[in-house]
Amino acid sequence: MNQALWLSRSALQHPSMSAVACGTCVVASYAQLAERAARLAGALRRFGLVPGDRVAVVSKNCPDYLALLYGIWHAGCAAVPANAKLHGAELGYILEHSGARVCFASQGIDAEMASHAPASLERLITIGSAEYDALFSADAVDVTPRDGGDLAWLFYTSGTTGRPKGAMLTHRNLAAASQAYATEVDPISPGDAIIHAAPMSHGSGLYIMAHVAKLGVQVVPESGGFEPEEVFDLFGHWPRASMFAAPTMIKRLADCPADCHAENIRTLIWGGAPMYVEDALQALDRFGPRLAQIYGQGEAPMTITTLSKREIADRDHPRWRARLASAGKPYSSVDVMIADAADAPLPLGETGEILCRGEVVMAGYWRNDEATAASLRGGWLHTGDVGAIDEEGYLQLKDRSKDLIISGGSNIYPREVEEVLLTHPDVREVSVIGRPDREWGEAVVAYVVGGALPAELDALCLSRIARFKRPKDYVFVDALPKNNYGKILKTELRVMDKKTP
Ligand code: AMP
Repeated sequence: MNQALWLSRSALQHPSMSAVACGTCVVASYAQLAERAARLAGALRRFGLVPGDRVAVVSKNCPDYLALLYGIWHAGCAAVPANAKLHGAELGYILEHSGARVCFASQGIDAEMASHAPASLERLITIGSAEYDALFSADAVDVTPRDGGDLAWLFYTSGTTGRPKGAMLTHRNLAAASQAYATEVDPISPGDAIIHAAPMSHGSGLYIMAHVAKLGVQVVPESGGFEPEEVFDLFGHWPRASMFAAPTMIKRLADCPADCHAENIRTLIWGGAPMYVEDALQALDRFGPRLAQIYGQGEAPMTITTLSKREIADRDHPRWRARLASAGKPYSSVDVMIADAADAPLPLGETGEILCRGEVVMAGYWRNDEATAASLRGGWLHTGDVGAIDEEGYLQLKDRSKDLIISGGSNIYPREVEEVLLTHPDVREVSVIGRPDREWGEAVVAYVVGGALPAELDALCLSRIARFKRPKDYVFVDALPKNNYGKILKTELRVMDKKTP
């Protein structure tokens, strides 16, 4: 079933309810949003687009993101949301690879896009231009019927290693992820707000659909991005507001001294990268029982395991800290297995690759049969993440398999060392990598942002983890390399490390 039907149904039932806000100002009711989507679909059809065609959106967060997404679906096309902060050449690659026929780009990046647009792109339309506004005078059309297995969203991976791949998310995948969210992470009532401060092209965008189905208000910050004070002001204005945030954003919120209006926060959902226990504790002190965690990836749109608000806040539970250090339990609709290199299941407690299957798992990678076959072999999604399931059924996430360090024949998970180093009060950020080493195979190296002394860090490690896991070298830097989603790029760090004398 076409996702666009969720919007037209909500509009039919409650036309005057608020659907979209820019900051504190409502800019569209459900009826207005649905009409905009239906007219845009009419315009796309007039361009000659047919169901299944790809339409790209390259924009920072903006209120019209909703009309664009739903207009594309309404026309039966597939959306290709891309991060506006990517380099023109990277965007050009996504446009070419996806075969998008039309691209909507925000002002400011349209010129850069034009110089990288592939021949296959027929139209590049600037959001907010006269040409763009005219599209909404087209006659509204009916929602194009789509099957659950049809492509809805080409989700380009954040590309922490090499070229991004396009995970094919179907209408069924999006429905399954939205339902899982609304039942297991964050129940939604009409009028509840979702604040989009993280990119709508990625993590935050996946929360749009559940809030459309349940008549929530989509709040786009005026800045179009993440400013902790602005987010707190929005919490002050919108009662029962939720927000998805990467762990680095949660940390910046927890560090921000302004009034956070905690009483108005429904849920702060973190995911997309590891949250260190120290940071989770700080956030819990600041925001109280309002934090939830999700673990997933574009290939199973942020829906593999989840740690609930109750579990995060349940300080009296004897296993509270172990739970807090975990990524939670599988969603009820998702099967999770820990497998060895031959894909055989491993017993509880043993570490291996995390595999999952269920309605949320992508149909494959766009135009990449080889990667699809490797990733979905045996009917399971191979996440490339390494972890173990503990005796209570909680997933203890270690690292990406490629980040594992093998030193002197022993496996060392960087995150374990990072967790220890972060407990030092003068360590703000840290990333641990392996450096090729003649004697050990790989040597553990810690890149540290902060002012601690190597001897202090050594002492800390010796007091908490096995001696062989202790870094052999500490490199102090002003900042760690990160991608546009705030994820630390260990690949880049390894390249930097090679150049370090
Ligand atoms: P992406 O597909 O770009 O969103 O990246 C997904 C990857 O981010 C996963 O495969 C994990 O390596 C990582 N990730 C996602 N959620 C979490 C989480 N809750 N804790 C730690 N790492 C996570």
